[in-house]
Amino acid sequence: MDSFVIDNVNAILEDGIRNDAAVRVEDGVIAAIGGRGELKGEKTVDGEGLYLSPGFIDLHVHGGGGADFMDGDAAAVRTAAAAHMRHGTTTIVPTTLCAEDKELAGVFDAIIGFKNSPEARGLPRIPGVHLEGPFISPGEAGAQDPEYIKKPSREACDKILASAKGELLIWTVAPELEGADLMCRRLRDSGIVFSAGHSDATYDEAVRAFAAGFTMATHVYSSMSTIIRVRGERVPGLLEASLLCDDVTCEVIADGRHLPEPLLRTIVRMKGADRIVLVTDAMRGAGMPDGEYLLGSRREGQRVLVFDGIAHMPDGISFAGSVATADRLVRVMTKTAGVPLHDAVKMMTKNPAREIGLSDRRGVIKEGYEADLVLFDGDINIKSVFIGGERTV
Ligand SMILES: [Zn+2]
Repeated sequence: MDSFVIDNVNAILEDGIRNDAAVRVEDGVIAAIGGRGELKGEKTVDGEGLYLSPGFIDLHVHGGGGADFMDGDAAAVRTAAAAHMRHGTTTIVPTTLCAEDKELAGVFDAIIGFKNSPEARGLPRIPGVHLEGPFISPGEAGAQDPEYIKKPSREACDKILASAKGELLIWTVAPELEGADLMCRRLRDSGIVFSAGHSDATYDEAVRAFAAGFTMATHVYSSMSTIIRVRGERVPGLLEASLLCDDVTCEVIADGRHLPEPLLRTIVRMKGADRIVLVTDAMRGAGMPDGEYLLGSRREGQRVLVFDGIAHMPDGISFAGSVATADRLVRVMTKTAGVPLHDAVKMMTKNPAREIGLSDRRGVIKEGYEADLVLFDGDINIKSVFIGGERTV
């Protein structure tokens, strides 16, 4: 049996932080949790009084380390996954943009090929793909190419499902589009998580979508409808519905740039610690120095500039995407938004695991759970990463 103990840590457990703790890992699984010096294994790793947290789970990420998943080859998947792993991510959900059918199929093939290859060992787990589009509102396209936006249809949907080969995990769809709720009702029980986003939905349309089976809202405040006035009357939008409907889990890009502190605090007050998942929504410039990068694929991407911790459109007026990593999200939530560390970590571990149906094995430090673990200091600087009990950073 392959066993070791990570001793002398402040373990971030499901119900709180246990100081002076130790965790024993056996065959890639958490086998025991105890006090400092209490557990024995074949080897001992000195945790040096650092925090020991479940590995971070990022449900929305386009790239990093200079690569974008839309590049469509195994090297890009490896590079982006490795870049985020250095910042604590142990489960990553590669996220696509609206693109030609053929291009999208190639991206799926590259991700599937990679995750089933020996190369994937020692890198973050890939439970599936997050498809951001193509059934989105042209009025809320954000940085997506409007040319590839589609209206929901049985035919277009089935084509995507065929190229996804069972790897479609999260689907961002604008729920107000005709046929979107039907699609959700048809597919929600097949393991696809529907997230409302890039949307012009009114409040009522959004509430109907949540009743139809949409369980998440994609990057709240960004590319989603909010209050408009119709003949003087205020009509709330998807934002208000996402914040108000208790069962809906909201993606939050907590890079400290997309959402200022008052909005982060508003979300926390509305949703509580259980209905927030922190996401990077990172482009290829994540984990890289400032400079010029392509937003989107190598073939079709547009040039953007990364500085001051975010990507900017060349016009300098609008943002072109985040360059965040998971450690930064936890740091911003604790230091800027004033969220207790235990809750911020939950938003990056237990909550995303639950949303994608992995709450029985991942996202918590608990006996019998996968030993995906990170060690970090009080400023959330990552010191070590373990995936399935294997030290990878
Ligand atoms: Zn995105």
